[in-house]
Amino acid sequence: MTGHRLGIGALANTKNEVFWLDDQSIPEMRAPLVHSTSADCVVVGGGFTGLWSALLIKERRPNWRVVLLEGFRIAWGASGRNGGFCDASVTHGLSNGLAHFQDEIRILEELGEKNLSAIEELVSGEQIDCDLSGRGTLDVATEQWQLDDLAEIAKIAPEYGYEVSLLDSSEVRKRVDSPTYKGGLYIGNRCAMVNPARLAWGLAEVAQRRGVEIFEGTLVAGLEDCGSEVEVRTTAPATVRTPRVVLGTNAFPPLLKGIQPFIVPVYDYALVTEPLHSDRLAAIGWFGREGLSDAGNLFHYYRMTADNRILFGGYDAVYHYGNGIKPEYGNNVRTFAKLSSHFFTTFPQLDGVEFTHAWGGVIDTSSRFAMHFGQRFRKKVHYAVGFTGLGVGATRFAADVLADRVIGQEGPASSLRFARTKPVPFPPEPFRKLVVEATKQSLIAADRNQGRRNLWLRLLDRAGVGFDS
Ligand SMILES: Cc1cc2nc3c(=O)[nH]c(=O)nc-3n(C[C@H](O)[C@H](O)[C@H](O)COP(=O)(O)OP(=O)(O)OC[C@H]3O[C@@H](n4cnc5c(N)ncnc54)[C@H](O)[C@@H]3O)c2cc1C
Repeated sequence: MTGHRLGIGALANTKNEVFWLDDQSIPEMRAPLVHSTSADCVVVGGGFTGLWSALLIKERRPNWRVVLLEGFRIAWGASGRNGGFCDASVTHGLSNGLAHFQDEIRILEELGEKNLSAIEELVSGEQIDCDLSGRGTLDVATEQWQLDDLAEIAKIAPEYGYEVSLLDSSEVRKRVDSPTYKGGLYIGNRCAMVNPARLAWGLAEVAQRRGVEIFEGTLVAGLEDCGSEVEVRTTAPATVRTPRVVLGTNAFPPLLKGIQPFIVPVYDYALVTEPLHSDRLAAIGWFGREGLSDAGNLFHYYRMTADNRILFGGYDAVYHYGNGIKPEYGNNVRTFAKLSSHFFTTFPQLDGVEFTHAWGGVIDTSSRFAMHFGQRFRKKVHYAVGFTGLGVGATRFAADVLADRVIGQEGPASSLRFARTKPVPFPPEPFRKLVVEATKQSLIAADRNQGRRNLWLRLLDRAGVGFDS
């Protein structure tokens, strides 16, 4: 998609700040850990993986002392800065699941649906105020080849419980009006929209009420195997002795050597507009408030917020040499301008609308686009990483497996091949950067070339490897 205008003017008054975290209802920061202590289980990371793990472990072992250590703030990482698409898929979509786990896809889809329902039940039971709504999404085609791909998905998805309708250009434009839409696929039952930061804050509150002890501003510096226990060392420098550790540290510098080969930290970016007045809203329709994405290899995702703004993100996926993660990488003016230009190409009728927020966040991209699990120190430490761009819902599924592993039991999810295998690793630098860039350029070329995949992408497909935002 090329921009019909630069879109830079719309960014003149934009804050480089995460819209979801710029919220009056942000909770007060909890105290850091200052005194050394012991616990039955330590969870590292206050994103969705860590929060759900703490909750599910406490639910299964109410008498355990469960301590959660977060280096900065709850929801400070990807969990507070994402698009808020809470999807039932735990395999980064049905097509990716079919490509990698054909033998288990039916059960993975069933468990994914149950996982999303469990999230909805907890949110409603605990009255978490996080605007969890709807279940409808719309994949839109801006090129004919994308429409052909959507038609293929429409044929197979109902077999896995998806309620789908394939829409032509005029049908899709009745739902959401963009001159770029050539058609679309409506899926009515697989993905809810949520305010992710409020969900994370709510989960932390529920976990605390149920007895989990949460410390913020507590960065874990290292783990040491001390026989029957692990010493969790923080920079404070307080320590926690514990027989069990769960790591939910996503793309951030891993605490175990074995994690880095399997994930690449990739920055993804989003913009949010000012609230749209009724005349602007009328110009685009979007009465169903579906979560939208386009069907290119490098795709945009977009949605409405509770106060009628549009969040527009995705497309660019930026990797920095040597697994670079720095706060300044969240401010990428070139990508913001590109996204702005794509936004006005999609919705020219919104000319004049301004963006209030623009930010980036880091994603733990794995070569199979889906989570994997690992353990160290003779099963005293367990972790889940690799959610890539679809972890809002899938992290709860991962936590279910992690809770089983910590307790030493097998459940329907933890016994699957999906939960027992690892993806193809990425090479070390300098090849890592070369592989990521070659793949990204090939995907851009495929999008310009009616979706046709070049030799490099075909080789990766055959090896079960890919790269996406
Ligand atoms: C811009 C963007 C858009 C996205 N959009 C979507 C979407 O719409 N739908 C979707 O499903 N997914 C989306 N994702 C992905 C999704 O947000 C993540 O997969 C998910 O939030 C991962 O949760 P997590 O808990 O594993 O990681 P995080 O939320 O990143 O949490 C990890 C936490 O660990 C802490 N930590 C790390 N190291 C240490 C340490 N040594 N000591 C203590 N604490 C530590 C960090 O401070 C952080 O808070 C998006 C991601 C981004 C960045």
